[in-house]
Amino acid sequence: MKPLTETEIRAAFVNCSKGEAKRLSVPHDLREQPWDDLDYLGWRDPQSPVRAYLVTELDGRNQAVVLRCPSSTGQPRRTLCSMCLTSPVSGVSLMVAPKAGAAGKQGNSVGTYVCSDLACSLYLRGLKDAGPGARLNESIAVEAKVERTVANLAAFLAKVTG
Ligand SMILES: [Zn+2]
Repeated sequence: MKPLTETEIRAAFVNCSKGEAKRLSVPHDLREQPWDDLDYLGWRDPQSPVRAYLVTELDGRNQAVVLRCPSSTGQPRRTLCSMCLTSPVSGVSLMVAPKAGAAGKQGNSVGTYVCSDLACSLYLRGLKDAGPGARLNESIAVEAKVERTVANLAAFLAKVTG
């Protein structure tokens, strides 16, 4: 994906107030992120382990979402990430996004299982070791896996904004 600035990221949030988007924690090391190898940038909130964020570009538009990780206090589950279909040793967390707009204000949300460290892109490309037995035995190319992950992410974001 294209490198994003802090301002671009803050402007991209679809499921929180403008005030919250201004205040939330954005990584300080944006320039050092491996943008070329990222399908999305995801990060945990250093101030709050139950919050995470991710930003991506879909159809030429930046979209960022606020996520809550209600289960992060417990043992990370060794299950399959719904985005990249990896099961990393570091765990997969249930992450819940409040829906955008009025539906979100009424308390509606969408949940999905995502790699706890939000490193799907790096696992897919073999740039981060997910640990033994973490990958499905698949013979498809990295490009196809990336495409599938982007499609999964797009479907999730469509549910958040739809
Ligand atoms: Zn993943």
